[in-house]
Amino acid sequence: MSNITVCARFRPLSSKERRDHGDGVCIRCIDTETFILKDEKEEDIIFSFDRVFCEKSGQAEVYEFLVLPIVRDAINGINGTIITYGQTGAGKTYSIEGPGILECGEQKKGILPRVVDGIFEHIKSDKMAKYSIKFLTELSSLLRDLFDLSKDNIQIKESKIQGILLSGATEMSIMDPAEALQSLSTGIANRAVGETQMNMASSRSHCIYIFTVQQELTGDKGMKTGKLVLVDLAGSEKVEKTGAEGRALEEAKMINKSLSALGNVINALTCGSGRANHIPYRDSKLTRILQDALGGNSRTALLCCCSPSVSNASESLSTLRFGARAKHI
Ligand code: ADP
Ligand code: MG
Repeated sequence: MSNITVCARFRPLSSKERRDHGDGVCIRCIDTETFILKDEKEEDIIFSFDRVFCEKSGQAEVYEFLVLPIVRDAINGINGTIITYGQTGAGKTYSIEGPGILECGEQKKGILPRVVDGIFEHIKSDKMAKYSIKFLTELSSLLRDLFDLSKDNIQIKESKIQGILLSGATEMSIMDPAEALQSLSTGIANRAVGETQMNMASSRSHCIYIFTVQQELTGDKGMKTGKLVLVDLAGSEKVEKTGAEGRALEEAKMINKSLSALGNVINALTCGSGRANHIPYRDSKLTRILQDALGGNSRTALLCCCSPSVSNASESLSTLRFGARAKHI
């Protein structure tokens, strides 16, 4: 099966990259799907993804290509997951949140506020529907509720009928998109507080948004439920690069373990050999949470975020290899 769409996104050079390394870029886009990375040995490596978003690509373009089909599916009862992967500073959070989720202007709005709008547009036309969001972070091997930081040990349970349940997690109904974004914005600030409390290197936590769309079917036919999960992953850089020591080093190793567990699950799912292979969902909290929104008949979108700078060529290469492996290209 290949229900996975893999895209690459290159942000513009940062002012620091420009200052330290001039205009040196390691990426050249050939067309909308193909691009070349020049590695540290000056060798050209060619990649072909479902789509490549170069520095000039806007947020709307990413949303329409990668996310909108998954929003439509979720409304129709099909689960889906959207994941941003890449080293710290590569543009994962920018892609998901935009420069800020509140009032950053139509053009720069990220995936998250667009998903809230997209779902809400549908709610207006369907009175029988119910929409909710759960918002979690995996930090220090604990699952924390970002709507309520005092809930820092959310348990993952599994039900035959309802799928994966997160016991104790706050669930917020979306009746008013502005209110939903306001609460999410507070939760996003909580994520930063949590990371600082743990004394972690920046962005070393996963951030997980779970949207559930429920519709009552007419004629007593029960409920149709679709789940859409957005994941802003922790930075994928090599542990040594984080400069972490002691406890922070243990955290960094845990995070990298759950990133490789995610890679293993995606690879097992896209193997496409037809045999009933084992999918190692249980190897991390992250993959357990994603279990019913990854695989089966659900859809997955992976956005591989990269810096275009020559100084980050090796991290960009490892991010792109993760993407290529996911797609079995
Ligand atoms: P990550 O979440 O992967 O650690 P961020 O999303 O925080 O990285 O991005 C790092 C910096 O680069 C931020 O200042 C962000 O505003 C900027 N940035 C990232 N992607 C883009 C983009 N596509 N266009 C403009 N600025 C971007
Ligand atoms: Mg980030």
